[in-house]
Amino acid sequence: MKIAILAGDGIGPEIIAQAVQVLELLNADGLKLELEDAAYGGAGYDAHGDPLPEATLRLARAADAVLCGAVGGPQYDALPREKRPEQGLLRIRKELGLFANLRPALLFEELASASSLKPELVAGLDILILRELTGDIYFGEPRGRRTNARGERESFDTMLYSESEIRRIAEVAFKAAVKRRKKLCSVDKENVLETSRLWREVVKDVAKNYPQVELSHMYVDNAAMQLVRMPKQFDVIVTGNIFGDILSDEASMLTGSIGMLPSASLDSNNKGLYEPAHGSAPDIAGKDIANPLATILSVAMMLRYTLNLEQAAVRIETAVKKVLAEGYRTADIYQPHMRRVGTREMGAAVLNALKHGL
Ligand code: NAD
Repeated sequence: MKIAILAGDGIGPEIIAQAVQVLELLNADGLKLELEDAAYGGAGYDAHGDPLPEATLRLARAADAVLCGAVGGPQYDALPREKRPEQGLLRIRKELGLFANLRPALLFEELASASSLKPELVAGLDILILRELTGDIYFGEPRGRRTNARGERESFDTMLYSESEIRRIAEVAFKAAVKRRKKLCSVDKENVLETSRLWREVVKDVAKNYPQVELSHMYVDNAAMQLVRMPKQFDVIVTGNIFGDILSDEASMLTGSIGMLPSASLDSNNKGLYEPAHGSAPDIAGKDIANPLATILSVAMMLRYTLNLEQAAVRIETAVKKVLAEGYRTADIYQPHMRRVGTREMGAAVLNALKHGL
């Protein structure tokens, strides 16, 4: 198995270095993962004048999975749009056909007080939001602006889903639910939207192949409310692009820290791009204070969803849990009387937990 490693900008190289050490340790324990680096984002622009250089795209295509740090930084803000680091990420998602975005909202019990909700509502929270990434009102045609009969400007977008687009994201969702607590909630607005009516019909149809999964449906407005009222009622949530955009950000805040959240974007063969949910954090880059756990947990997702190595994934998640239970905290998740550590020390603690159980 080949893994492309795209560290990117800002804190990217610092947090990726910790994740690579984890992969190397798994290799020493018998996995055979070939790791190869390439320039990407601002670093791609600096080296080759392109945020997604040809060689990087070639490597990403050839690899079984891609592990990314983050891209962007103020030094690139004045570049023309197509040269900006974020275009590297958008292009790689498009080129690889990554249509399924998986965003877990996982709150380790040790960090329950970091959430803005009451600890008892969120302690042990473990939900997975599956957002369709390449369709819906963000991409539907026609779209535009025109002058109406009254001479007034008006704008319009098109919410559009084809049956095959719904079916393939539903398949990913049911498969993810099978690997978890076997509950799937499909979120739509079926009482108002035609698109949602088709969405619900197709999801119900796909459900026939997964009798072991308990399927429910919820309107998006209710889902937004339930996520802050009783978030632990959910296991996997599947929804379209725009609803997922909003709900996944809402869910991420339940956990308190962006430095803890991994993410994955998958194609139809489970090839995936894995990255922390946060950005390149230029404000703390180079200071050895960034939290590397979101990136390390992204490696666990890679093992689970692309490489089908569930045991290795659980091993990493258990190591992270142990490190937190031992009181290791980077600045973003620091609590009084805990052990404040930097990026490298946190990475070393995870390695130690993987090697010796701490
Ligand atoms: P950001 O996520 O980089 O940072 C927001 C805040 O969270 C900052 O205060 C930062 O210090 C903190 N933070 C983020 N990750 C952290 C970590 N691992 N440990 C501790 N603290 C952490 O978002 P932003 O400031 O809006 O964006 C900065 C740059 O990142 C921009 O150029 C933006 O375009 C880019 N960005 C890239 C991605 C990506 O590569 N996927 C995603 C979002 C933003």
